[in-house]
Amino acid sequence: MAIEVLVLLLALAGVLPAESKFMVYNTSAGIDPNKLNVHLVPHTHDDVGWLKTVDQYYVGSNNSIQGACVQNVLDSLVPALLADKNRKFIYVEQAFFQRWWRDQSETVQSIVKQLVHSGQLELINGGMCMHDEAAPHYIDMIDQTTLGHRFIKEEFGVTPRIGWQIDPFGHSAVQAYLLSAEVGFDSLFFGRIDYQDRAKRKNEKSLEVIWQASKSLGSSAQIFAGAFPENYEPPKGFYFEVNDNSPIVQDDINLFDYNVQERVNDFVAAAVAQANITRTNHIMWTMGTDFKYQYAYTWFRQMDKLIHYVNQDGRVNALYSTPSIYTDAKYATNRAWPLKTGDYFPYADRANAYWTGYFTSRPALKRYVRIMSGYYLAARQLEFFKGKTTSGPNTDSLADALAIAQHHDAVTGTEKQHVANDYAKRLAIGYTEAEALVASSLACLVESTANKECGNPTTKFQQCPLMNISYCPPSETVLSNGKDLVLVVYNPLGWKREDIVQIPVMTDDISVHDSEGKDVESQLIPITEAYHKLRSYHVKAYLGRNAGGTPKYWLVFPVSVPALGFSTYSISRAQGTGARPTKSSVYTVQRGENSVVNIGQGNLKVAFSAEGKITHYINKWRTESVEQSYSFYAGSNGTEKEPQKSGAYIFRPNGSFPISPAKQTPLTVVHGSIVDELHEQINSWIYQVTRLNKLKEHIEVEFIVGPIPIDDGIGKEVATQISTTVKSKKTFYTDSSGRDFIERIRDYRTDWNLEVNQPAAGNYYPINLGIFMKDEEKEFSILVDRSVGGSSLSDGQIELMLHRRLLLDDSRGVAEALNETVCVENKCTGLIIQGKYYFRFDQLGEGARWRRSYGQEIYSPLLLAFAEEDKNHWRNSRTTSFSGIDSSYTLPENVVILTLQELDDGNVLLRLAHLYEVGDHKELSVMTSVELKKLFPGKKIGKATEMSLSANQERAEMESKRLVWKVEGSAEEKETKVSRGGPVDPVKLEVELAPMEIRTFIIELVQLNNLFDA
Ligand SMILES: [Zn+2]
Repeated sequence: MAIEVLVLLLALAGVLPAESKFMVYNTSAGIDPNKLNVHLVPHTHDDVGWLKTVDQYYVGSNNSIQGACVQNVLDSLVPALLADKNRKFIYVEQAFFQRWWRDQSETVQSIVKQLVHSGQLELINGGMCMHDEAAPHYIDMIDQTTLGHRFIKEEFGVTPRIGWQIDPFGHSAVQAYLLSAEVGFDSLFFGRIDYQDRAKRKNEKSLEVIWQASKSLGSSAQIFAGAFPENYEPPKGFYFEVNDNSPIVQDDINLFDYNVQERVNDFVAAAVAQANITRTNHIMWTMGTDFKYQYAYTWFRQMDKLIHYVNQDGRVNALYSTPSIYTDAKYATNRAWPLKTGDYFPYADRANAYWTGYFTSRPALKRYVRIMSGYYLAARQLEFFKGKTTSGPNTDSLADALAIAQHHDAVTGTEKQHVANDYAKRLAIGYTEAEALVASSLACLVESTANKECGNPTTKFQQCPLMNISYCPPSETVLSNGKDLVLVVYNPLGWKREDIVQIPVMTDDISVHDSEGKDVESQLIPITEAYHKLRSYHVKAYLGRNAGGTPKYWLVFPVSVPALGFSTYSISRAQGTGARPTKSSVYTVQRGENSVVNIGQGNLKVAFSAEGKITHYINKWRTESVEQSYSFYAGSNGTEKEPQKSGAYIFRPNGSFPISPAKQTPLTVVHGSIVDELHEQINSWIYQVTRLNKLKEHIEVEFIVGPIPIDDGIGKEVATQISTTVKSKKTFYTDSSGRDFIERIRDYRTDWNLEVNQPAAGNYYPINLGIFMKDEEKEFSILVDRSVGGSSLSDGQIELMLHRRLLLDDSRGVAEALNETVCVENKCTGLIIQGKYYFRFDQLGEGARWRRSYGQEIYSPLLLAFAEEDKNHWRNSRTTSFSGIDSSYTLPENVVILTLQELDDGNVLLRLAHLYEVGDHKELSVMTSVELKKLFPGKKIGKATEMSLSANQERAEMESKRLVWKVEGSAEEKETKVSRGGPVDPVKLEVELAPMEIRTFIIELVQLNNLFDA
């Protein structure tokens, strides 16, 4: 070998010149108005967890799965940018950037600050992750964006200008108008839209549009939005990572394979092709893809040369650019753009590949994220009431865990199993700390009195995060004589609330009292075997211990809780005269017997046929026929001709099969003074409870689905259908990220002539709040407890997909089957899903009231905290009732507090949201107002500054910078005037809110006196 090398070296020496010259590339090109401008946008797409966990991606471990190290990207970027001031780069995911930033010396930090200020390094999008747009709730999207944006503002003094949602699998209206326009972005770019839509838009040069995504806020919250022609990668042949195989530009004439002219020709050809489908003489090349620039020089070296030689050639103009520069260039052309309304769901990348499976994938993780989201909202309120301290538990780690869980491979369910476990672990750690904070805040509030501030509270509160599987150690204790179980019930909503509380207890020998010692009516419902099994299996699986003695009953009682406050209830051993809970009457009915079962104690009653099917829904104004059923789709294994399989992303069914209840299983009917239930074992792996309580006029359906059997070798996707007589005429409505409702028409798209290939999968939409349909008389609505997929596949019917278990990968990169299991001592069984949905009929025009107000109650359930205390001691020494707002005040019915949070500097972040859209409801879809002073009793508002949605700049500053885009045609003339709340008078401090408006404030408070004097 040595001799061969020597020969080669000698041979090379013959052709090498005596001296080699340092080549200076001219990379200084700006925009040339007379040429086609090719904006080269260097970028890396760094998933905040997918095939590896967020930390593994950052440090570059576990590389056998994927060779990806974000630390390499950012480390190599800095010198590469310093080497040439014309080079530019955008960085997006703050979860990674912040990990890296913490590791840097002051010297590097100051260099990076200069790079940011010079515009060489631009931080865009700016949330902790690039959140998904189907599975997250809008409150989570706001929170995770705020976290990143405020960090960028604090460290760099800048505000991101560009929305960069290049990878999420379809795009929501809420992303466009709320998370883009309302955070002050000038444009929004993305990669994934339906293949049929994309083809048409390329033809019509309408990939770039003005997106007016909110019916209510119209042009006041529109955004310039661009879909990429193919994806977020470079044109074919222009990939320059170390191991990529695109031809590099070989411009050294002393070496072999000189190819400058060829590469210039390739460049010009690709540019012209793209120009042919793009308006104006500006096109963008996304120069990078997943986890690229791990050795940043390889890309910049090639781009330096391309810019130099392409501009020497002169046919087109190539420049280092960013999406900001590109946006400004588009804006400067003063063109009018096509109008886009609605959203970009569902997304298919080809005929049988609808990315609608992930709307339901990993339903347990989706539910966990949603529970944590509501808990985080409540925990921040309690943290504010107590006063944020630097020591002790806080909500920061829950905030962080929730933020990354919104990533488009996190809550979506499209990550590998070990990564899903990592998200759940982070949430559990964050929850544990927030739980301690909530306990100490509540302890503080109950121990404070008018004359005494909270010092070091001694009350120890416990909470029950596993209540859904009837596991709650504090409520399962057998009370000794003289002790009370005290239950503090906290309501995070700004309205007084009447609700039902349900906790597991060991005995029937108890009584319930309110904070004044008065008897409270209560009911005992036997806990059935289905729940005992859930409880013992999952306590063992998740806590690694036996669940202990089994509680016999659910204790159910009504509670009344003030706005943003708590009430206290006590549960004691029943003594002589005290009121005892009523026991439910329980009986079974054999299926097929010739009888009808009725349940319901209040205004609503439901009749079931002896088959266990609901037949009638009866309230004061009408009797409705309604039927509910289950079915499963067999997951397609692909065929030779069309190999697409059903998987974590894609829903590709191979037939739908009804699930009929087993004939021999009886129905169990529970009647009580407060709650009525009908329990059904539908088959060996589906259990269902239909529940009515006398305070609410809707039906609650609780389902336990799983383990989905796969021993027949067929993956299954389990759905439930509710059929009514609503004449829906193919039309139904689903929410956008939990906020606005969007009209959907079966087998139809507003933007193009739909070619239907997948009649089920292609009509599925993401649901976070609910789905409804209507006719000329009535509305029928369903509300959900987590993100799910749903549709209306025939008139009058609504379908929800509840659970999925699949055996094959669907070839979109995750390379794992979506086959979730839960293990006890190495024995694993398929995941069981437990959850709820709620449904109701309303007269036409009335449905929004229930959807909006009850939807908020689902998002923000009552928070329960337990303590054991000496009898009567509590009432004599503790604050038993509290409201964080003025006791004479309540928020208007159409407004909620999205955020009430003490910031590190002591100021308060407050977000108020109008819950109704224009046209939702005749009395509630109107301008409303909130008196800020009433929200802070005992305190004086020093200053209230209105901010952008992500609270990183003043609203007025954001408005003054907003680009005013032109819409093609006469759209502006047609639009009715958009309504917005007016400026806030600094003395009156009343905040007006128009339909769907969210207003964000930073409030400086001056403490006047104790909380409790107000
Ligand atoms: Zn991605």
